[in-house]
Amino acid sequence: MIAFARLPHPAPTTADARAAVLANPGFGTNFTDHMVTIDWTEAAGWHNARIGPRGPIALDPAASVLHYAQEIFEGLKAYQQPDGGLALFRPEANAARFNASAARLAMPALPEETFVESIRLLVDADRDWVPAMDGASLYLRPFMIATEAFLGVRPAKAYSYIVIASPAGNYFKSGAPAVSIWVSDYTRAAPGGTGAAKCGGNYAASLVPQAEAIERGHDQVVFLDAAEHKWIEELGGMNLYFVFADGTLLTPALTGTILPGITRDSLLTLAREEGLTVQEGRYSIDQWRDDAASGKLVETFACGTAAVVTPVGKVTGRNGAFTVGTGGPGQLTQKLKARLVGIQRGEVADTHGWMTRI
Ligand SMILES: *Cc1c(COP(=O)(O)O)cnc(C)c1O
Repeated sequence: MIAFARLPHPAPTTADARAAVLANPGFGTNFTDHMVTIDWTEAAGWHNARIGPRGPIALDPAASVLHYAQEIFEGLKAYQQPDGGLALFRPEANAARFNASAARLAMPALPEETFVESIRLLVDADRDWVPAMDGASLYLRPFMIATEAFLGVRPAKAYSYIVIASPAGNYFKSGAPAVSIWVSDYTRAAPGGTGAAKCGGNYAASLVPQAEAIERGHDQVVFLDAAEHKWIEELGGMNLYFVFADGTLLTPALTGTILPGITRDSLLTLAREEGLTVQEGRYSIDQWRDDAASGKLVETFACGTAAVVTPVGKVTGRNGAFTVGTGGPGQLTQKLKARLVGIQRGEVADTHGWMTRI
């Protein structure tokens, strides 16, 4: 495996300043002292791997990421464990998805063991930055950008892979009881597009729909399919699950327009262990409304690394609004969340080998 150089930090954050950040970490606004960088060129492949002080990066103004958005990213977390150690949740799954995204964006693959090692090194270097309070973690953000200075439209011939880390509190402040969502007229992903890749461009295109949801007084936006505008796909950055009174759990199938969430995949496994019938399939917005009204559908929740599991309480679209179940967090939603969070925090046995100790 590639060897990482260690660049000394001239002035790391003082213990007092760090403690002040960790007392109220928020999400995505505070960062640790270090970062990992690895460069790629056609001639040298991956080289110049290093971990050093976090700081601004120099880019040529013609760097292709700035013009054609050749960029991919990942998101995963390190959690405090009961014995005082630290652990990552399924980092090899993020490594595999990173390369699937890279392939779709015509970027070079990064060896999975190099991806995982880069995360381990950064968490180890910044281990004092992992908040211990309930629901808190160290959020890791690996990403890759095209750095070649060239304005033609073709895959770049130079890239940088970078990992930064950010202490995170609860994503939804005070673990909000249930979110209200707006059914967007915009679409997030089209068949044959980049919906299954974790690329920044998808998020750029979702900002207007998300802003519209907020303007209308909702928390999140839900996207329907691009072809028929009928089938439920996902939220801006989270996958969806529907819970039925007969003990069935349904999540939209991975058809190419849905991001294959690692939380989604983990919950498929945990739900089967709970004895639920789990289905991956299609579910229409009209059926959702009818089933919520008849009581056939009892819960809906969204899931993703940042917020883990978030109950959906209310759904509003052009054709009116409806409430899901009680409008608050459902029983199964809470049970599955507790199991998953328990595994991540080392309080529930990790029977699937999901946790990687640092
Ligand atoms: C990252 C992401 C998810 C959730 O994936 P996790 O691996 O569970 O964090 C869902 N949808 C989109 C669009 C995403 O970018």
